Amino acid sequence: MTTDKTRLRIAIQKSGRLSRDSEKLLSQLGVKFVMRDNRLIAHAENLPIDILRVRDDDIPALVMDGIIDLGIVGQNVLEEVELERQADAMPARYRELKALGFGKCRLSLAIPEDEEFASAEALDGKIIATSYPRLLGRYLAAKGTSFKNCQLNGSVEVAPRAGLADAICDLVSTGATLEANGLKEVEVIYRSQATLIAREQAFEPAKQQLIDTLMTRLQGVLSARESKYIMLHAPKNKLGEIVKLLPGAENPTILPLAGQEGEEVKVALHAVASETLFWETMEALKALGASSILVLPIEKMLE
Ligand code: ATP
Ligand code: MG
Repeated sequence: MTTDKTRLRIAIQKSGRLSRDSEKLLSQLGVKFVMRDNRLIAHAENLPIDILRVRDDDIPALVMDGIIDLGIVGQNVLEEVELERQADAMPARYRELKALGFGKCRLSLAIPEDEEFASAEALDGKIIATSYPRLLGRYLAAKGTSFKNCQLNGSVEVAPRAGLADAICDLVSTGATLEANGLKEVEVIYRSQATLIAREQAFEPAKQQLIDTLMTRLQGVLSARESKYIMLHAPKNKLGEIVKLLPGAENPTILPLAGQEGEEVKVALHAVASETLFWETMEALKALGASSILVLPIEKMLE
């Protein structure tokens, strides 16, 4: 199957930690496609977009070489490739369009759990196993420290026990893998999440227009993710205090409730809050006399 250069080409990870969220995001942007198990390319049915599924390590270079228009990749992989290419005087330019809020992890130094850790500087001259020697090198160099690289692209965490390295520098999310290998996390050197990147060269107008549309939709998806729709019944005389408790809901809709009259009139309040509502806030609302408090997720937003 071939691709046509007039179609927007987006690279995502074929199978790994970023795949599901990347595919889900494209669907949320209104890109309709069917992923067949081993296919490299999926053609969108409703838009001039082709989705390429590759190893995450290959995505930065494909974008930096202008072969692919857009890519979704971890910032850790992106920056490692960028530093590597800069060192080799190869083109390493791209535009970071938007951090996507998934694939969050940290790149950390870890040492055997029975050893004392004084500081990163104390690792000077030690052998450190990592898949990210350039990010590690940059971090340590800023502290005037150097290390001997033991490059491993998998099973980094077994290196100290196998006698290959004194320490490791690897991606961590819960720390369970480190623990299972008798290691402890001692210093975070880099925080990462998935990000959307574009090639550096300008796009032809039709492609640029499509990207602009996708970016507006992306903004809508990202702000919807952080917002909640809140409905509650509030005593009319407590409205001011109640609204103050709702994060980012300055202009709520107030509606009368059927059959309410007298002193303790309640009204319905609907609002979009810019953050999720914690139990403590809901309890405070209830203490002010609010009732029937509903917090609903929002799927899409267009402002
Ligand atoms: P590929 O076969 O595509 O090269 P991979 O094995 O290199 O895959 P994955 O383990 O699927 O990569 O991780 C992809 C990205 O997911 C990482 O580069 C990182 O940005 C992100 N990530 C999020 N959490 C973690 C984690 N706990 N461990 C490793 N990577 C994580
Ligand atoms: Mg990889």
